[in-house]
Amino acid sequence: MAKSPSLKDETCSMNNCYNKANSGCIYCKKTFCKEHGEPILVMSPRDVWNLSGLKISDPIKYKKYVADWNRKDGHPCPRYTHVWNAQHDEELKKSLQIIKFSSKRASRQPSINTYREAKRRKITQIVGLVIILIAIVILVLYIFH
Ligand SMILES: [Zn+2]
Ligand SMILES: [Zn+2]
Repeated sequence: MAKSPSLKDETCSMNNCYNKANSGCIYCKKTFCKEHGEPILVMSPRDVWNLSGLKISDPIKYKKYVADWNRKDGHPCPRYTHVWNAQHDEELKKSLQIIKFSSKRASRQPSINTYREAKRRKITQIVGLVIILIAIVILVLYIFH
């Protein structure tokens, strides 16, 4: 399409729809009637095949696919599907990183064992210091005797 489409004399790009086009899709740039204006996800055969797996692995994506599949309005838009999936996967990655990060932080908190270890080290230090002090006192007493 070299010329920018004039909406006035365009018909809807949807198959078998001869309504006047009055809106353009920002993703695929085609023109549609009011009913078919909104982009919906396109399901590939692979997606259909994976649907039950998706229900467990990615419930948000599953819900969106099923909801879009059952819609009577809108137009299946490959470009929108691509954008939606990229955005969704990015968000999923981010939330997974947050989960990873917080579990890492939790494991970094000192366990009882390391707490005991630190306490024992401190006692050893104090005992060592006391021994040195006693030695100095004995030495001083010996010298000034
Ligand atoms: Zn579209
Ligand atoms: Zn239409």
